[in-house]
Amino acid sequence: MPVSAGKVYPADQPMVFNAQNPNAPPIYPCGVCHKEVHDNDQAILCESGCNFWFHRGCTGLTEAAFQMLTAEVYAEWVCDKCLQSKNIPLVKFKP
Ligand SMILES: [Zn+2]
Ligand SMILES: [Zn+2]
Repeated sequence: MPVSAGKVYPADQPMVFNAQNPNAPPIYPCGVCHKEVHDNDQAILCESGCNFWFHRGCTGLTEAAFQMLTAEVYAEWVCDKCLQSKNIPLVKFKP
């Protein structure tokens, strides 16, 4: 499904519960476009910052950079917004 399709979620919630179906898994709206991040999308979590998931395409990460970051379990990625506002290094290595 193209990223451009679908509902836009509120910008302030990293996780949205499905009101119609409480048993459904929560929806993770992308921190850039605020549309749902699907299981089969390439997506990355702003783990040390805002806790939003991001579509790879929305972050500007290249496919190679994305693969490297997701393959490296000790690497934490942060989004541009957190990088600028919270002074967190772009990629942090867990101790
Ligand atoms: Zn997005
Ligand atoms: Zn962030």
